[in-house]
Amino acid sequence: MPNSPFLKGFVYIFLAMTILIDSHAHLTAPELLPDVEAILERAKQKNIRIIVNICTDVISLETGLLLHERHPWVYTTAAVTPHDAGTSSEKFFSFVEKMAREGKLIAIGETGLDYYYRPEAIEVQKQSLLQHLHLARECQLPVIFHCRDAFADLFACADEHYADLPAVLHCFTGTLSEAKGVISRGWYLSFSGIITFKNANVLREVVREMPLQQILIETDAPYLAPQTKRGKRNESSYIWETAECIARIKGISVEKVMAETSKNAEDFFRFSTQ
Ligand SMILES: [Zn+2]
Repeated sequence: MPNSPFLKGFVYIFLAMTILIDSHAHLTAPELLPDVEAILERAKQKNIRIIVNICTDVISLETGLLLHERHPWVYTTAAVTPHDAGTSSEKFFSFVEKMAREGKLIAIGETGLDYYYRPEAIEVQKQSLLQHLHLARECQLPVIFHCRDAFADLFACADEHYADLPAVLHCFTGTLSEAKGVISRGWYLSFSGIITFKNANVLREVVREMPLQQILIETDAPYLAPQTKRGKRNESSYIWETAECIARIKGISVEKVMAETSKNAEDFFRFSTQ
């Protein structure tokens, strides 16, 4: 913060005007839902003006749609995650389809491939991913990808069935060359509190190399609280630590990080459409 009172005032006005967006949180997951009103209040106090709520099952989507009615600044996305693909997920996918077609979602996700947690279920994950890509194309919605140890297959699948359409790689933890694969497709990279972890030097190098114009920030709450809150339940108000980390890595102000990444999220999600 600058020392001159005039400049300080200017920075406060700027902060008050800047929208900070948490582009990925699971507000209606069982860990957060009981406290969701207090969590939203704390987020507002920290200048967060939009939260994208990722719904991953029937209950979280039902409660997510109600949450959007009460708090129109909390937007809804939904998908069967790669972790649940194939395991009695058909009923939920039908619900996601219906809500997408009725214009109740601003994106399809998180879908994708996770060969780290489910190497035994590659084919069901791919089938589920395809279902979601077709739905996104039909409804003209952007896609939120989850990908772990599966970039070659994710890129191949998306190039064949989803070329030139908007996507974000959420909670990116891959290599520099995988990040370049994301950027070259015109997608966004979304970074979570993981970049603040003491041992995340390689990932911070990726942040340094990648253009701010293609970066989003997220908490992935209730998971992955940043370094100073590590091990605790995460929430949207903690997103500042990640924004400050990006600012330090890139040698720019946190205000610039907030302004740019929020603009990116607005371009990507087109919030007025839900
Ligand atoms: Zn998530």
